[in-house]
Amino acid sequence: MLEVTNVELKRSNEELDDFAYIASHDLKEPLRAIHNHSRFLIEDYEGNLDEEGVKKLHRLTFLAKRMEKLISDLLYFSRLGRQDLARKDTNLNDVIDDIRNTLHGTLEEQHVVINMTDALPTVFCDTVRVTELFRNLIVNAIKYNDSSEKQIEIGFDNSYGPNNDNHVFYVKDNGIGIDSEFHKEIFRIFKRLNNKKQYGPGTGSGLTFVKKIVEQHGGKIWIESESGNGTVFYFTLEGASA
Ligand code: ADP
Repeated sequence: MLEVTNVELKRSNEELDDFAYIASHDLKEPLRAIHNHSRFLIEDYEGNLDEEGVKKLHRLTFLAKRMEKLISDLLYFSRLGRQDLARKDTNLNDVIDDIRNTLHGTLEEQHVVINMTDALPTVFCDTVRVTELFRNLIVNAIKYNDSSEKQIEIGFDNSYGPNNDNHVFYVKDNGIGIDSEFHKEIFRIFKRLNNKKQYGPGTGSGLTFVKKIVEQHGGKIWIESESGNGTVFYFTLEGASA
């Protein structure tokens, strides 16, 4: 029975991914047309409108652009679910070095220190996605952080799981923290907790991608945090020990 339920669950997940893919793909075109038409209106008719009218048109353009971004994220999310993993032995230290290089400017400008307790292991995983996973967590650790020196610690414990042989990884920050009532909600697509003026723009999708990537690797993700006291994201990548 469990096997049948699993097959059905897999099928319904695939159908949901297909549905999200088709819907978001088809929604993009008319939305782009709305965006373009509102731009044309501003360019050609701005002089015929009063200040309030012009303001509303600019708002319309902004909202159409924002919706386009949300739909792109939904499309990307469904793509993640539709594509199989390309697992290979991946040295996670190289993954972190790669992220450090791409974020080099931000790390300097924002006074970010990334500490690694020990060298990370090599794991059997999809390199591109696991890089995306770490990058999302690191970017958030910088973004949702008011400390004058932003500290990020990346590490792992290799005695997790029923046989004490699985890795649990963590990314820890000294940022603004997350109240316990939101520990599950933050993984929901488009869910944001903070004022965008204070902590910069975003769509609330990054952690949903992170959770999907972890689950595709058969792992789990959870957090330890309280408001004002930093956050630790923990995750496993089941069967990942190389
Ligand atoms: P985004 O950054 O675009 O809002 P995410 O899905 O990455 O989307 O994050 C969702 C929300 O979770 C963020 O808006 C923020 O409120 C909260 N959050 C994520 N990471 C952290 C963190 N390290 N510290 C505090 N809050 C966080």
